[in-house]
Amino acid sequence: MFSRLTKRFGLPAKAETETKPAPEPTTASATEQASAEQTASSFKIEADAILIDQKVESRKDALALIAAKMLEKGYVSSDYLEALEARERAVSTYLMNGIAIPHGVNEAKSLVTKTGVVIVQIPEGVVWNDKGDRVFLAVGIAAAGNEHNEVLQKLTGVVMDEALATHLGTEADAGAIAEALGQSLPTRSTEALVTEFDASTSCAIVDAAGLHARPATILVQMAEEFAGTDIWLTRGELQAKMDSMTRLLSLGIVHGDSIEVSATGPRAQEAVDQISAAIAKGLDPVEGSGATNNDYQPLDELLELTNPKGRALLRGIPASPGIALADAFILDSATEFHIGKEGAGSAHERGLLDAALQQAHEQLLAVKEEVAARSPAEAVIFLAQAELLKDTNILTEAQKHLDDGASAAWAWQQTIDREASVMEDSAAERIRARAADLRDVGRRVITILQGGRTELTWPDRPFVLISKELTPSQTAELSKKPVRAICTELGGATSHMAILARALGLPALVGVGSELLATVKAGEAIAVAPQSDLLILSPDAETIRQVEDCIHQWHRVQEREFASKDEPAITRDGAEIEVVCNISSAADADKVSQHGGSGVGLLRTEFLFETAKAEPDVETQAAELAKIARSIGTQTLIVRTSDIGGDKPVSWLKQPKEDNPFLGVRGIRLSLRHTDIFKRQLEAIYRVAKAQAEELGSTGIHIMFPMISALNEFQQAKALAQEVRQAVGAPELPLGMMIEVPSAALLAEHFAREADFFSIGTNDLTQYTLAMDRMNPDLLMPQDNYSPALLHMIAMTTKAANAAGKWVGVCGNLVAEPDFAKILIGLGVKELSVSPVNVPALKELVRSVDRSQLESLVQKALQAGTPEEVKTIIRDTDQ
Ligand code: PEP
Ligand code: MG
Repeated sequence: MFSRLTKRFGLPAKAETETKPAPEPTTASATEQASAEQTASSFKIEADAILIDQKVESRKDALALIAAKMLEKGYVSSDYLEALEARERAVSTYLMNGIAIPHGVNEAKSLVTKTGVVIVQIPEGVVWNDKGDRVFLAVGIAAAGNEHNEVLQKLTGVVMDEALATHLGTEADAGAIAEALGQSLPTRSTEALVTEFDASTSCAIVDAAGLHARPATILVQMAEEFAGTDIWLTRGELQAKMDSMTRLLSLGIVHGDSIEVSATGPRAQEAVDQISAAIAKGLDPVEGSGATNNDYQPLDELLELTNPKGRALLRGIPASPGIALADAFILDSATEFHIGKEGAGSAHERGLLDAALQQAHEQLLAVKEEVAARSPAEAVIFLAQAELLKDTNILTEAQKHLDDGASAAWAWQQTIDREASVMEDSAAERIRARAADLRDVGRRVITILQGGRTELTWPDRPFVLISKELTPSQTAELSKKPVRAICTELGGATSHMAILARALGLPALVGVGSELLATVKAGEAIAVAPQSDLLILSPDAETIRQVEDCIHQWHRVQEREFASKDEPAITRDGAEIEVVCNISSAADADKVSQHGGSGVGLLRTEFLFETAKAEPDVETQAAELAKIARSIGTQTLIVRTSDIGGDKPVSWLKQPKEDNPFLGVRGIRLSLRHTDIFKRQLEAIYRVAKAQAEELGSTGIHIMFPMISALNEFQQAKALAQEVRQAVGAPELPLGMMIEVPSAALLAEHFAREADFFSIGTNDLTQYTLAMDRMNPDLLMPQDNYSPALLHMIAMTTKAANAAGKWVGVCGNLVAEPDFAKILIGLGVKELSVSPVNVPALKELVRSVDRSQLESLVQKALQAGTPEEVKTIIRDTDQ
């Protein structure tokens, strides 16, 4: 049958061999002995999974031995080495006294087929981590179940006994090692119980899995907050100071146990109150309610198809997750136009070409707008395509053909073919990827010139799109069609088509190979599950049932999100987060409340300027803004003054050519050079605010300045705003700024004295922090967004703002990513702004997390050196 993709980490344990006794325990009490014996379980360590007297050069060698044995024993379905290494990179599994417990990262749990333990004894020891700790006994764990609490308890009994740990790591035989783990060695304490405290209270353990590693870590972190106060946990005759995770684990605390939280020191009562409250509430949301910090990634929960009847299947590269079942529609995009070479004179043909280029430009801007409503980051693909239409190289080349008497279509076709072939021959992946865009743009212009329809004809019933390849424009068109999945012969997971499919939430399997079109018949039923890298042709009844279950499951998630869209977004520990929207038109404004947004965190006003042929006058601007203000009412409406330049050029404002417009006169720099234009915009905003305040008694309009990089820019902008406000006679409005340039984050402390609020623009902050062009989706890979450098920039900003009593929002596209939103919540951000469609899921995510836990996680993430480490820390809250 089918299995869950996400299996929980766990670890059953009982030794099979009960032969030689381990060295005698010294000071175990009868209670300890009894408690330890209660925890015996039926797990078996297999004799041949204990590798005695191994010589290894490095930790990697040791992990490789473990991974190979796990594979051989069938504990894992494929090589587990990377999973083990990834865990060590994120956090060392070294315990103490020469013992480590290597285990895989959560993402690799689907590889675990049954719980197993592989032990490697390394008498000479091997350096395990950066601190130089040496490991003599590596207890490797592949966990499919949820019993690791028991084994961790047994192991802590071993690791806390230096003599025993040394014996097992250097000279014990397999039987003794197994026995030491399986005999439930009692935990031992050589210290007398502390019984006199300044404060103490008892509470019960509500976490289903008891006090295992993750809750123990949380307690240690909480205790660290009370430096100078000693805190203990006592269960019966066992006691541990709350400064050591392993000591806490050694208490063997299980669900339902009653324990004492006690403390001595200046903040004893406060510590006891806070810690006992946290324990009573549950330290482990993952085990408890099912609501979890670990994840609000509903797609991870989808079931895996098993194809029980062995129907024909094809495999490909998963490019966008999901699952679908529908009839195949085979796209025949090979319609070739007959293009005549002869033109009717150079000037005439140039006129035709220019008109077609203009039309193509408008179409591309419309496509960009449409895609931007859902996924602004990906929409830049079409802006970049629009730029190709103006490429002087291409235009000069085409003109040469026109001068030789060619028709516009022929000249254009020849030029594009030539340029694209050169790009396709490039060794650089980035340039080759651009060729697909050039051909896409080329085809659009030819279609216009030939009088054809640029839009394809799609079925009006649900379909799985089968095609050799798909252009970015074709993919964008699909957003309005009943397509359920995309499968292509060619393409990779980083192509623009794949990026767009992910943005549109369309499951996609690419690079299937030439069998795709050779095998699939039009109209044939197809199940596509990129999750399991497969496409099943004519699925049997059982597979259809599996797919339908999965789809229902997915719909239920979406319905659940939408049903609670109007509920406030409050974390489980009571922190309210404002979830607001990024909009860029009056039409978008209506979507805010429809999707449960509580206002607008970013109104991109460039829409007023981008498509206009001349600067719109104050009346026109005010009329557009008034429409938006009416729709939003008195809720927050943050109007960003125009961010012209860079990725947002306007045709009517002639600017000197810049080699690098992103580092040029853009945003506030441009406004401060054209104060007349800037003041007209400010006037429109203040007029609308004044009218709204008069009509409704108040206004939620805020003004925000983009691309501020120096203090004097903000001061000048603020002074101009005040001047205009007074002239209009409008009420004071909060004046804030975007933090999207590293210098603004670095100087946040100074800005926080001047600005009323900050909104972090991660799109630009990422590009400028990493020096990676945001227009180039091939350069900026998804993991770059998790760069610790970016996290530090955000942390600096929130710290400075909090100290000055100002609030921080974030309005970059990254906010819609669940993992990134968790980081932001952990960093103390108060307001999250996303496209309206993303609001319900984001609110659900907020409701599923615990901010105080995220704060601790983020502190760890801030220590990380790579995006991968950050990602692992954020996703992997299991341990
Ligand atoms: C940003 O830079 O993150 C941002 C929200 O602004 P824009 O995308 O409009 O530049
Ligand atoms: Mg920006």
